[in-house]
Amino acid sequence: MTSSELYHGFGLEGYQTVATSCEGTKIIVEVESKKRLRCPVCNGTNVVRRGRCPRDFRVPPIGHKKVVIRWAVPRVECRDCGVVRRVRVPFANGHKRYTKRLERYVLRLLRAATIKDVAAIVGLGRDVIKDIQKRVLLKRFRLPRLKGVRRIAIDEISIGKGHRYDWARRAEASGISLLKAFGGTVAAHRTGILAWYDDKVSTGPLEGTNNKIRTMKRQAHGYRDTEFFKRKIMVLHETKYAFVG
Ligand SMILES: [Zn+2]
Repeated sequence: MTSSELYHGFGLEGYQTVATSCEGTKIIVEVESKKRLRCPVCNGTNVVRRGRCPRDFRVPPIGHKKVVIRWAVPRVECRDCGVVRRVRVPFANGHKRYTKRLERYVLRLLRAATIKDVAAIVGLGRDVIKDIQKRVLLKRFRLPRLKGVRRIAIDEISIGKGHRYDWARRAEASGISLLKAFGGTVAAHRTGILAWYDDKVSTGPLEGTNNKIRTMKRQAHGYRDTEFFKRKIMVLHETKYAFVG
């Protein structure tokens, strides 16, 4: 793989391929940095090599083959600050075993498919896919501030037993089963129906959103992580489960 392919395909800038091998469904690309070694603390170049630390990073797959970038990350001793440490890995976040480019790919796929689907496509565990999404969602959406909210529309999910009032009572007394049933429904929703005359807030959009939330929850077979579930709701309008019909 050329340096240009490593850069444009996988986001590795300034690397060259040392060897490529194939193990089952995995392609392993061993790389080497072409850049000058720098101290990870002060970013200076007054460093000497102190061994290596081999690490594997997952990148987006090629077709159905998983691709692993293998880099023996150099450890350096800095003559200015005295520390002995591994150099920075610019193409991955922290200690993650996948690249930033793979993260981006996963996020793109998640807009059209479920966590389970994406895990199968890129060949990573569901928990890893979820962590990628959760990290981004937590960064993007803090919980909304409720200061300044004047009205709240509530979509009732459970239907409470209402009192019987005039029209409903007459319907009940009429003995006509259709009227009796309708009278019961009106009485049960009385508070909600009358609320329209105080504040003209329609729960239409809310009911649509609640339906989408229910669908999402069903598709994921429920969420154990409440914080994650809340953030998923906030990003719901961007989601299209195009892959699942
Ligand atoms: Zn230093």
